[in-house]
Amino acid sequence: MLKDEDRIFTNLYGMHDRTLQGAKKRGHWDGTAGILGKGRDWIIDEMKASGLRGRGGAGFPTGLKWSFMPKESDGRPAYLVINADESEPATCKDREIMRHDPHTLIEGALIASFAMGAHTSYIYIRGEYIREREALQAAIDEAYDAGMIGKNACGSGWDFDLYLHHGAGAYICGEETSLLESLEGKKGMPRMKPPFPAGAGLYGCPTTVNNVESIAVVPTILRRGASWFSGFGRKNNSGTKLMGLTGHVNTPSVFEEEMSLSVREIIEKHGGGIRGGWDNLKAIIPGGASCPILPKDKLEDAIFDFDWMRENQSSFGTGCMIVMDQNTDVVKAVWRLSKFFKHESCGQCTPCREGTGWMMRVMDRLVRGEAEVEEIDMLLDVTKQVEGHTICALGDAAAWPIQGLIRHFREEIEDRIKAKKTGRMGAMAAE
Ligand code: SF4
Repeated sequence: MLKDEDRIFTNLYGMHDRTLQGAKKRGHWDGTAGILGKGRDWIIDEMKASGLRGRGGAGFPTGLKWSFMPKESDGRPAYLVINADESEPATCKDREIMRHDPHTLIEGALIASFAMGAHTSYIYIRGEYIREREALQAAIDEAYDAGMIGKNACGSGWDFDLYLHHGAGAYICGEETSLLESLEGKKGMPRMKPPFPAGAGLYGCPTTVNNVESIAVVPTILRRGASWFSGFGRKNNSGTKLMGLTGHVNTPSVFEEEMSLSVREIIEKHGGGIRGGWDNLKAIIPGGASCPILPKDKLEDAIFDFDWMRENQSSFGTGCMIVMDQNTDVVKAVWRLSKFFKHESCGQCTPCREGTGWMMRVMDRLVRGEAEVEEIDMLLDVTKQVEGHTICALGDAAAWPIQGLIRHFREEIEDRIKAKKTGRMGAMAAE
């Protein structure tokens, strides 16, 4: 379990002073110019050694991503874009950073931008986060006034500007290329890759898009050392992480914890246990709505990290877990996710535009039991045709929850169809 002295986020619950003065007292903005003085290569090497993997869901190694940015400018500016869209259902960890500990993000933005040769960074914040935007903007203004950012940031000789841009509330703008389109003032529709943003991103210039938490942890990692951070968690899954628990736990919460603890430990310690006790657990969705569901029999020794979840046909995602007890209608729960993804599809590519609606409508009938048993395999087949055949990952995100449901709860779907046919159950309304 993580000790207090090892926490990166010391004001997660807003109990302390979130201003620059308060942040400095808690150890932030300490020796920032000295960190920049060690140079771009040192920073990137240290980030690689820390083992930090992107905290926005995909888990791509952060230092490696930064190293894709051009070492020398060809005349074009470089940009760091921070993804604060945080629209994945069940995920609400970055907002705690922005409203209660915003200086961790601002200091991180300066250091990360410097490491990538970017004099400008944009934070793209989701439309619904109005109070978070106000808190963050106040902190940015404060940092400008104190000379921490702006011309000659922190006296380092590096000029750095940071802009906060408010989105309009579309889930798809959390996808990195769609986010860039939206930032450029266009419709938030994902771009084909390649070119990747490091080659041609914002305004056609080299760009790295990172999640809020991935950037906010940077200053502390560099101050305390890569080996300190990599000392937490299993190999390849290092560090501490903001996690969340929602659903049928006694105390839903957001908290910082070390990686690779067991799922059970996380739920017992931070969620106060399952409603009705551990045996009342039915399933979890590990890290945001797109991660395939895992049933209780898989969870007895489950480890909460990237690799374990991948090896068990799910995904760690953002580390914000949805917990479901025995009372949950899992078919209906997954149908609700299908409805969400169908609604959020940008409609640009056919397998996603048509497939998400098709999958939702079949799920709709499965919830009511008004289907044939053979349709379960047909639905599975459609998810495979959507998965991997779309411009962005929304197609996969819509397919995976259904695949997880069929993999682990096929009997429950079949039972419902049979019960409906024999009149053993009343229709369940999918509303
Ligand atoms: Fe748009 Fe869906 Fe295609 Fe992504 S997969 S580009 S959301 S239609």
